[in-house]
Amino acid sequence: MGAAGSGKGTMSAKIVALEHIPHISTGDMFRAALKEETSLGLEAKKYMDKGLLVPDEITIAMVEERLRKDDCKAGYLLDGFPRTLAQAKSLEKMADEIGRPLQIVLNLEVSKDLLIKRITGRRLCPVCGAIYNTEFNPPKVEGICDNDGAALIQRKDDTVEQLEVRLKEHNDNTRPVIEYYRTHGLVHEINGEQATDDVFNQIVNALDTVRN
Ligand code: AMP
Ligand code: ZN
Repeated sequence: MGAAGSGKGTMSAKIVALEHIPHISTGDMFRAALKEETSLGLEAKKYMDKGLLVPDEITIAMVEERLRKDDCKAGYLLDGFPRTLAQAKSLEKMADEIGRPLQIVLNLEVSKDLLIKRITGRRLCPVCGAIYNTEFNPPKVEGICDNDGAALIQRKDDTVEQLEVRLKEHNDNTRPVIEYYRTHGLVHEINGEQATDDVFNQIVNALDTVRN
């Protein structure tokens, strides 16, 4: 869990590489559906472009379908879900049904000033998914992916205006979810302001506390 720009995507990629489990990012799934112009993608776009949350019904159905796939039987990482209490309640049911209840919640905390810098400087590779930042993690050649030479893109919702809306959604709808998980003792606070490797080290230490 964490606001836009807190490092969820970057850390998720590192976690799944370590744990060999599927990375379930609802934001990525919506963007993929949009690219394919499915009805789900076009519906989600109405909300995403404004920085608003996609309605629970649509989001929950999409995650449910994904969690029922065989590769989730050995565990999974959710990135950007749940973002509302209704999603959290549904997840509890789904996770129990597949015999994989939540073991840990990682909450990435980052100040608003830094979120703004990270979001407005964020650039993505459309080919390999690599995440760059013009200020903190620039590619070797400006605008070009180090891995494959593809031209980097900027997300449509990565503007200061949309970020304000996304942060408000996070405060209004997602903070209560974190509180809910806190009362269940699942939350590990991660200081997301440090260098990538230091943030990841904190995460690995947190994961070690729930390893069987
Ligand atoms: P993200 O890539 O996680 O920043 O998500 C991008 C956008 O996708 C969000 O601003 C929402 O519009 C939508 N989205 C992603 N995950 C969810 C979710 N769990 N519930 C509702 N909307 C979501
Ligand atoms: Zn690339």
